[in-house]
Amino acid sequence: MTRPDVIIVGSGMGGATLAAALAPSGRHILILERGERLRPSPQDRDAEAIFVRGHFRPEEQWLDGQGRPFNPGNYYCVGGNTKLYGAVLIRFRGEDFRPLAHMGGMTPGWPFAYEELEPFYQRAEELYQVRGTAGEDATEPPHSGSYAYPAVPDEPEIAGFRRRMAGVGLRPASLPLGIDLERWLAGGKTPWDAFPNTCGGKMDAESVGIAAALQHDDVSLRTGCKATHLIAGKDGRIDGVEVEEDGGRSVIGAPVIVLAAGAVQTVALLLASADENHPHGLANGSDQVGRNFMNHNCSAILALHPFRKNEAVYQKTLLINDFYLTGGPKGEPLGNIQLLGKISGTILAANSPLPRFLADWIANRSIDLYAMSEDLPNPESRVTLRNGQIVLDWRRSNWEAHPALVAKLKAALKKAGYPIVVSRPFDKRTPSHQCGTARMGIDPGASVVDPFCRSHDHPNLFIVDASVLPTSAAVNPALTIAALALRAGDHIRKTEFAR
Ligand SMILES: Cc1cc2nc3c(=O)[nH]c(=O)nc-3n(C[C@H](O)[C@H](O)[C@H](O)COP(=O)(O)OP(=O)(O)OC[C@H]3O[C@@H](n4cnc5c(N)ncnc54)[C@H](O)[C@@H]3O)c2cc1C
Repeated sequence: MTRPDVIIVGSGMGGATLAAALAPSGRHILILERGERLRPSPQDRDAEAIFVRGHFRPEEQWLDGQGRPFNPGNYYCVGGNTKLYGAVLIRFRGEDFRPLAHMGGMTPGWPFAYEELEPFYQRAEELYQVRGTAGEDATEPPHSGSYAYPAVPDEPEIAGFRRRMAGVGLRPASLPLGIDLERWLAGGKTPWDAFPNTCGGKMDAESVGIAAALQHDDVSLRTGCKATHLIAGKDGRIDGVEVEEDGGRSVIGAPVIVLAAGAVQTVALLLASADENHPHGLANGSDQVGRNFMNHNCSAILALHPFRKNEAVYQKTLLINDFYLTGGPKGEPLGNIQLLGKISGTILAANSPLPRFLADWIANRSIDLYAMSEDLPNPESRVTLRNGQIVLDWRRSNWEAHPALVAKLKAALKKAGYPIVVSRPFDKRTPSHQCGTARMGIDPGASVVDPFCRSHDHPNLFIVDASVLPTSAAVNPALTIAALALRAGDHIRKTEFAR
């Protein structure tokens, strides 16, 4: 094999989108992915296999802040976490890029304004074929183009729910989604959130980003190939990536090295690559690598009327952003509300102490919602390594905003005709929206990468995944990761390929 021009570690949202952006350059791009392609299997649409037996979860243990082992919901396969994602492809709001006062403190803002990322959001929506309706959501930032496909339609029960929520003065809006509904349902009548995409119905990092990249002869993907170390030269450049593959070890080099292994694994790799010149890990002159770990503060909320059944199959078509920018005691932001994929009795019983008959009774009637509040960057919330094992000491912040959001939602649901409303916070084993551990910024003393995702310390090293987000906002992160990858891709083509 010829020496690649670019090595990308990880084929999830960041890595796959960057590969798609760089592929038309004709340069040789090599993507290293520790997992394999997910192939169709009987477990794909089996809620019992997924939610009770954890069939797709990795056989991996991380430690929490108290040193207790847990099995994280972090997926290693071509396409990464997007293979199981809910396919909500939503932009951060314009306000998310500026410092904002939250109940739990100030967010720092981004090194650039929303307007800088807008053209890349537009490109990301086109690439991932996002379905949506503009103009329904008052918090929606300006778009330079329109959605190429209409929003995924509400099922009849959800259309009724939309009317009821509008009736109590809220403004429900269609969720922007990367779903080909017909194709998804042809593979089985289930929701898509947390179900793996092996039928091509979800627009994910493999079915879109990797597929687009591999149309070019100079792009190759090596699966089952785990990066274990980066090797830094004396001049500060990264000379190579050590990999484990088929039981053996080797080193691959390239003029440009990109980490896109996800917000936990990317920093684990940087920390594991410590050497005598970089005793605290690579790219870590600022001591920020692994710090500022954010996830979202989330709850599931089930609302039901005892005499009304909910026969929706997929359900997940609607969001409510009335409390996104306001609602706190001093008008602080509270967060986003969106529908969950339809909860079944199997899923509910697996996630609660309820007996199965009661779980079925509730799930046959409930509208299932997801409330999401912003987690603020905190240097003590961090990923470290202990004898090579990942320690995820997530210190939730801004928690006070979350019960306030849930209370507002519960009150609205009761008013809208759902007399029974129950809620449960998501546990810490689910780092679905992990981000922030190698944050971008202008100051090399306070951030890991520059605003184009280039390491401040190593000129040929880029980080293009959720690690670089300076704030988590309170909406799903994947579209923002994709937009940042497209922007970094343009920058790499201009600065590295012009030489
Ligand atoms: C169940 C679930 C539902 C979600 N729903 C949504 C949603 O609806 N909308 C949304 O915006 N976000 C959603 N997310 C989050 C979204 O999937 C992530 O934000 C996004 O995938 C992160 O992109 P990334 O590039 O940072 O990492 P990932 O997409 O996780 O990709 C990292 C890749 O790197 C590979 N890798 C890791 N370590 C190594 C190594 N050492 N060597 C080689 N390869 C390596 C991994 O196998 C993986 O393929 C969801 C996540 C989950 C788990």
